[in-house]
Amino acid sequence: MHLSTGDLLRAEVKANTALGNQISGLLKDGKLVPDHVVIQLIQSCVKDQPSGAVLLDGFPRTLAQAESLERILSVRRVLLLEVGLQVVLERMAGRLTCSGCRRVFHRVQSPPKREGICDTCSQTLLVREDDRPETVQKRYQVYMDQTLDALDHYNKLGKLVKIDGSRDPETVFIEIRDIIEGL
Ligand code: AMP
Repeated sequence: MHLSTGDLLRAEVKANTALGNQISGLLKDGKLVPDHVVIQLIQSCVKDQPSGAVLLDGFPRTLAQAESLERILSVRRVLLLEVGLQVVLERMAGRLTCSGCRRVFHRVQSPPKREGICDTCSQTLLVREDDRPETVQKRYQVYMDQTLDALDHYNKLGKLVKIDGSRDPETVFIEIRDIIEGL
C-alpha cells in the first residue's frame, strides 16, 4: 500500500470536510499540518490494512511524527531523495497533477500528449497551489527547520538511505525499486 499524507490531506480539502476546511490555509501557505492530525490519518489508514508492507510518502516530517510512527508500525528503511533548491524550484514550477488519477507530468520534462489533459485517464491537469515559487521556498525552509531532526533520528538508527534525486526519473526509480525489493 502506498500512502501519501499530502494526497490524503488534499483529498480532505477537495471534499470540503471539516478537517479540510481547517487545514486548507496551512497547505496553501506551505506550512505543516499539526502532528496529531497526520498521525491520526496514518493510524486510521494502516488500521484498515493490518498486514503487508506500507510505503509512506511525505511522512514522518517531524521528530514527533517519527516517534509516534514507532507505536503504529515498524520502520524498515527511510529513503531520502536529496535534491538542491534550484532543481526543486524548476521541477515544481513545471509540475502538473492529474485531478483524476493523480499522475504527475512536467510541462517540459514529461509533457502530456494533449495540453492540460492526462494521458492515462483524460481528466484535467492542475497546478498545485503550493507549487508557486515563493511557497516552494517556504516549504524548503519548513523542511530545514522541522524535518531534519526526524532524518537525524533515522540516521542514528542506521535506517536512513540517501538517494541522489537530481538524476533522471528512470535511474532514481531503479535505485528505489532495488532497495525495496532487497528488503
Ligand atoms: P506533499 O504532497 O508531501 O508535498 O505535502 C503537501 C503539503 O501537505 C505539505 O506542504 C504540508 O502542508 C502537508 N503535509 C503533507 N505531509 C505532511 C506531514 N507528514 N506533516 C505535516 N504536514 C504535511
